[in-house]
Amino acid sequence: MTILLTGGTGYIGSHTAAVLVEAGYEVVLLDNLSNSRPEVLERLRQVTGRTLPFVEADVRDRPKLAAVLREYGCTAVIHFAGLKAVGESVRQPLAYFDNNVGGTLALLQAMQEAGVATIVFSSSATVYGEPQYLPLDEAHPTSAANPYGRTKLHIEEMLSDLCRAEPAWRAACLRYFNPAGAHPSGLIGEDPNGVPNNLMPYITKVASGELPSLGIFGNDYPTPDGTGVRDYIHVMDVAAGHVAALSFLQREAGWHAINLGTGRGYSVLEMLRAFEQACDHAIAHEFKARRPGDIASCYANPAKAASVLGWRATRGIEEMCESAWRWCRASKGATRSP
Ligand code: NAD
Ligand code: UDP
Repeated sequence: MTILLTGGTGYIGSHTAAVLVEAGYEVVLLDNLSNSRPEVLERLRQVTGRTLPFVEADVRDRPKLAAVLREYGCTAVIHFAGLKAVGESVRQPLAYFDNNVGGTLALLQAMQEAGVATIVFSSSATVYGEPQYLPLDEAHPTSAANPYGRTKLHIEEMLSDLCRAEPAWRAACLRYFNPAGAHPSGLIGEDPNGVPNNLMPYITKVASGELPSLGIFGNDYPTPDGTGVRDYIHVMDVAAGHVAALSFLQREAGWHAINLGTGRGYSVLEMLRAFEQACDHAIAHEFKARRPGDIASCYANPAKAASVLGWRATRGIEEMCESAWRWCRASKGATRSP
């Protein structure tokens, strides 16, 4: 089976490509390189021992997508491509609707044209909005607090409508919690442009000396230590979840929403301590005001993924921090010691 990975040179796409190749799939990577670098392809060659086909294209280019699907004989698509910065989405909502919703629409039309009707979509726990109960299961009501989240909801709904209208379609919306960590080789990992918005890449940059100090957004939440709690999940587990979703969609048609989380929440301070263990030095930090729009706690009920996909997260926060640090040192040559 040949799988098209949109956003294939990005953080989660590149790890999934590696895991799919290991599982015996053929992959084609497509990306417009707006948030990733072509060097990832050489890194993937070292990881997989193969040169993976790559197409530089935008998912909004429908004719190109249809041609690629036909040329490579793709039977399914994993759709990672999209913009993902919450704050930016508030400032530039149209760019987010154009890229994420418009891009998915063009992709689905291209798939229809090429006769491909199986898609795994990168959704997010953000579709649950403010939690009404924890842990979050897939039956929890959905809502969106910002344009980024709204694009994820719109896309989920578009896929649901399509599957209802056309029984041949198969769609799995994988609702990721907080992906973290890197490939064990240290060759691929998360490499955001500029100052990171997310906790783990921020901690990594403070640990390597690229940024002076971590600002911890709030220490007065109703959590055990007052800092925000999230369900961090190793990116290699997320990648394995996609392999499981593809086999699931071979058996099951229709629309499915499935959480990819561990079921366990960790606070910002717990993540900081775990990273300090991994890098073996103290990481400068200071408490700051809460970040607007943040929630206190968010973690998954991962039971559905276990029952329908036969998938469970197996890696803990130590492995996330160790692999992120290995990747950081390998890619940036960081040598800082306490
Ligand atoms: P990423 O930015 O590293 O990867 C996305 C890739 O898509 C990038 O390589 C980018 O160049 C590409 N891209 C963007 N717009 C494109 C377009 N119009 N055409 C072609 N390529 C395009 O992000 P990631 O962390 O790997 O996330 C992948 C997906 O998972 C995204 O849809 C994101 O919203 C979703 N997601 C990520 C997280 C997370 O914490 N990383 C959490 C929940 C959901
Ligand atoms: N966080 C923080 N400092 C940062 C980035 C994040 O204290 O520089 C906190 C944030 O308030 C939240 C947790 O870390 O409690 C995870 O934030 P992230 O942006 O990574 O994920 P999300 O909030 O989208 O789940």
